[in-house]
Amino acid sequence: MALRAFSLLAGGLLRALYDRVQYNEVALNKSVFDIPAALVDALRVARYVAVLTGAGISAESGVPTFRGAQTGLWAQYNPHELATPEAFRRNPRLVWEWYAWRRELVSKARPNAGHLALAEMERHVPRFMLITQNVDGLHQQAGSRAVIELHGNLARFKCFQEDTPVVEWAETELPPRCPRCGGLVRPDVVWFGEHLPRQARLAAIEAAQQCDLFFSIGTSGLVEPAASLPYEALRRGVTVVEINPDVTPLTSDATFALQGPVGQVLPLLIDLTWPRAEAEG
Ligand SMILES: [Zn+2]
Repeated sequence: MALRAFSLLAGGLLRALYDRVQYNEVALNKSVFDIPAALVDALRVARYVAVLTGAGISAESGVPTFRGAQTGLWAQYNPHELATPEAFRRNPRLVWEWYAWRRELVSKARPNAGHLALAEMERHVPRFMLITQNVDGLHQQAGSRAVIELHGNLARFKCFQEDTPVVEWAETELPPRCPRCGGLVRPDVVWFGEHLPRQARLAAIEAAQQCDLFFSIGTSGLVEPAASLPYEALRRGVTVVEINPDVTPLTSDATFALQGPVGQVLPLLIDLTWPRAEAEG
């Protein structure tokens, strides 16, 4: 008991110390917001920019992470046991209600400066593709048009039987039934143990193989196949830029790693690359 208490205390102290070091680095290292001139040049001349985004950019809009959504009534459930086809088969109503709750959380979020900066980047470069692992639709809300949703979208639905889109249903039971076959309606998101949508996966790989500038933004770089996309670009000698407040497995391999909040770093990069006066003149 004493040993356990000690190790908990030591762990807490280490974490506090670690947080402190991180904080000081951010506070002291103003270079967090020094955008390298070489990166500005690379973006200005890029013909095809591919961008991969993850939960980090949505977190800055207040969208809780997968695990962070487990509050209140839902705190007792493990999300890994709700976001699976087996869970839906076992208790479709529970899973349906969990997603209704997550949709409600997401509906309160608005795109932040990082989302808006990416939509603006798309307007400046000749060719652009945004690959996102997020299911909240905030990129589209911000004005992004070329968007690949690797993990689906919380606001879309499909038939559990036929795997085809469902847009309307009779509000008689929860979950509702597919008007064509009577199968259960489920959220159109990728669950654990499921394959990514084939078209989305292929389009993402193609973008990473064809772009001449690649950004990895707000993603931990741990989940495949998204994790290997920047390496696909690096292998061809393409400039890879990481923007993330935290260190990730990609940080040491990226051509440029900008450590800071996406909502601050990206707008600055856009302003430096395409100054307002130039855009208006
Ligand atoms: Zn159906």
